[in-house]
Amino acid sequence: MKHTPLIAAALTLAATGAMAQEMDRRAQSQVTEVQEPVPAVIQAPEGQPPSDAVVLFDGTNLEGWESVNGGAAEWNVEDGAMRVNRGSGDIRTTESFCDVQLHVEWRSPPNNEGHEGQDRGNSGIFLQERYEVQVLDSHENPTYPNGQAGSIYKQHIPLVNASREPGEWQTYDIIFQAPVFAEGGALRRPAHITVLHNGVVVQNHAQLQGATEWIGYPTYEAHDCAPISLQDHDADVSFRNIWVRPM
Ligand code: MG
Repeated sequence: MKHTPLIAAALTLAATGAMAQEMDRRAQSQVTEVQEPVPAVIQAPEGQPPSDAVVLFDGTNLEGWESVNGGAAEWNVEDGAMRVNRGSGDIRTTESFCDVQLHVEWRSPPNNEGHEGQDRGNSGIFLQERYEVQVLDSHENPTYPNGQAGSIYKQHIPLVNASREPGEWQTYDIIFQAPVFAEGGALRRPAHITVLHNGVVVQNHAQLQGATEWIGYPTYEAHDCAPISLQDHDADVSFRNIWVRPM
């Protein structure tokens, strides 16, 4: 379509105005764009540890673990899994950790006849050797809810019971924020734990009242970064594919 010179000039002016306005909006949007830090590129292949994870157990040996009683870890390793060696005691990583993302797969013994409540497939994952995420066969196995699978033992009941049948592999994905202490030892920030049990959130940034206690109430005592330990609670619980990402 052909316009008179006057209309053409008006249209050009309007277009220029719209363009200026658009450029102005883009400039405004850039005010809130942050350019760094640029996140590191990692690989996260399906079913495998992320490329920046520390693999704590790859199914072949107990390198990187020791007995809490001193000496080598004496749990059984077979078929790509480690299994509690009942009576040999808890084991812990030789390395210490603070804030972490932790992935653990575990399995209760399939044969649970004659075992009820806390006596059925009991173990535990202790962050910093103090804060227990309970491992228990909680499939059709009532117990006190702050002691069932997915609980922060004696402190937080899991939001749901996502347990699979005994003998099936289950996963815990744990995000742990370590407590922070002031120089004199006073608590500055309590520990927090988020837990996904079989992909389901069962603990949502739960605040810990202190170190796990079986008897009595939890309290904090100042400590540094510390190992991750696995509990020998006199049950044939197995673990596999354990990795951690310090944060
Ligand atoms: Mg336990």
